[in-house]
Amino acid sequence: MRIVVVGGVAAGMSAASRARRQNPQAQVTVFERGGEISYGACGLPYVIGGEVPGFERLIARTPEQMRAQGIDVRLRHEVTDVNTATRTVTVHDRGAGRSFTEPYDRLLLATGVNAIWPEWASSHLHAVHVLRDLADGRAILASLAGASRACIVGGGYIGLEMAEALRSRGLEVTLLEKGPEVAGRMLDRASQQRVRAELERHGVDVRCGTTVEGLAGKNGRVSSVQTDGGPVPADVVIVAVGVQPNTALARAAGARLGETGAVAVDARQETSVAGVYAAGDNTESNHRVTGQKVHLPLGLTANRMGRVAGVNMAGGDARFPGIVGTGIFKAFDLGAARTGVTQAEAEGLGLRAVSVDVDSTDHAEYYPDAAPIHVRLTGERGSGRLLGVQLVGQPESVKRVDVVAALLHQGGSVQNLFELDLAYAPPFSSVWDVLLVAADRLGRELRED
Ligand code: FAD
Repeated sequence: MRIVVVGGVAAGMSAASRARRQNPQAQVTVFERGGEISYGACGLPYVIGGEVPGFERLIARTPEQMRAQGIDVRLRHEVTDVNTATRTVTVHDRGAGRSFTEPYDRLLLATGVNAIWPEWASSHLHAVHVLRDLADGRAILASLAGASRACIVGGGYIGLEMAEALRSRGLEVTLLEKGPEVAGRMLDRASQQRVRAELERHGVDVRCGTTVEGLAGKNGRVSSVQTDGGPVPADVVIVAVGVQPNTALARAAGARLGETGAVAVDARQETSVAGVYAAGDNTESNHRVTGQKVHLPLGLTANRMGRVAGVNMAGGDARFPGIVGTGIFKAFDLGAARTGVTQAEAEGLGLRAVSVDVDSTDHAEYYPDAAPIHVRLTGERGSGRLLGVQLVGQPESVKRVDVVAALLHQGGSVQNLFELDLAYAPPFSSVWDVLLVAADRLGRELRED
């Protein structure tokens, strides 16, 4: 059994390890076009911000460790084509400057996403970056030497995390967002405003409703970002305007792409082409709350999809259970989390959604350091089904999102949430935790309708 994996980060390495464990006789080869494997891209903003002392801390396993497990890892090897008739891939060895073909019985495409480079950013100016991998992280850190003003384009979670990181490094930071608010794809408006207020409280100049038109430079280095509201001076620019699934090889293999634009797979992570699997950020998944296909490129999803693909490629039988749209991020002293669908998303899907907002404290008010927490809980009129939650509060306090995520996985109702026996002691929560208060209130709203 020859298993070839393309891409050596979360999905690819999970799959390779799992396949070897499932079938120790399998010959597993990983081709990675970059110079590193198996690292936590999610930690990049924290190395740039200085909380984590070095990029090497993000590396979970080295190529040597993987080779010791019997996995043949080839760095700087880019797979450029797939031939499903001969069951071979074409590989370009970047170091040696030559190409060769490699046979496979099972092939996994774990090629991730590409960061979007808008046309206005395609100049040759230095100190203009996206942030996807370790090389980008190192390049950003190098650009910070001598820089005092940063401009971040894009108010998604990576842009927000980078705003904090660059403020931690002492830079003046301007964040430009085309939409009306930051965190537009994650939260409803009121929660978005709370996040923006936190950024502003920490000195970030947030300009929403601003469209970037171009870049200007001096001596080959960026000096300002041109916008419809005038120029923004900047010594370093971070472009964080979104990602696109990297589907080039899937298309070369003739695998079907879904409506989301990402690779379509079945529950075993197999594409429409027999023997060709896909996993991770390049792949769409099934949303258990809406029943729709979605492309939500996140770390746990990538690892889990890789694990499922690895088992199946090696002859086992595993299924990907789908996702419920859970996400979390930190911006300075604030955490924001969501799972399921927001009120706005539910309305967009034609669901009869009702939401309640509850403002409380994250633990007993009388116990030291009680901090505000905002919960917006959403349910469905008629069925009483739980649809989602958003939380904004101290970073650790919003991890309660997992309670609702667990219930959403089981198709739970608002009443099910209200009935949960949640842990209580004054340093951790109020006797009626804010989630229970929200469920009680939402339950009454739904009954009154
Ligand atoms: P990737 O990590 O993108 O790996 C794909 C690999 O495939 C790359 O190394 C690429 O070089 C290689 N490749 C592509 N094409 C080829 C080819 N033709 N030949 C050979 N190799 C190829 N997720 C969260 O859940 N929580 C977070 O807090 C979070 N924070 C993040 C912060 C940042 C800054 C970034 C960039 C991502 C963050 N993510 C977060 C997302 C998370 O990192 C990704 O979901 C995860 O890395 C996806 O893993 P993957 O293996 O699918 O793809």
